[in-house]
Amino acid sequence: MERTLAIIKPDAVARRIAGRILQRIEEAGLQIRAMRLVRLSKVEAEGFYAVHRERPFFPGLTEFMSSGPAIVLVLEGEEAIGRWRRLMGATDPATADGGTIRKDFGSSIERNATHGSDAPETAAFEVGYFFPGIELASAG
Ligand code: ATP
Ligand code: MG
Repeated sequence: MERTLAIIKPDAVARRIAGRILQRIEEAGLQIRAMRLVRLSKVEAEGFYAVHRERPFFPGLTEFMSSGPAIVLVLEGEEAIGRWRRLMGATDPATADGGTIRKDFGSSIERNATHGSDAPETAAFEVGYFFPGIELASAG
């Protein structure tokens, strides 16, 4: 069993397509272990994406991620990290495979509808960034 941190980003929440993204998660058989609507501050978005601090897109990305409410989720299942990333598709919606979330719902390489952890270590950090262990333990 693996856990991953998913985010339905502010672009998707604003466009009212969060439900369609949740439907894909459920249809894929990934279990939702925790879920919350959050409005990140700029500082919180910077902390979350700290690995990208030196990248040219960092200021725009953290501005976007703090621009409106987002939905953070913990997904659980066999190989949940890779399965969720395959459901999302490539970072840039323009090059993402057909049928992926980013292809179908992303607007640009920045406003690409969803986030997913990329490895077990980042998943552990990202899940802990939003959800205390006690909340997950009781989510059964
Ligand atoms: P995420 O971490 O959000 O799941 P990812 O792992 O596919 O996405 P990263 O390289 O980690 O891609 O980039 C993090 C996020 O930064 C992207 O999802 C996107 O929103 C934004 N981003 C990445 N590259 C660019 C770029 N060249 N220009 C603008 N924004 C970008
Ligand atoms: Mg990433």
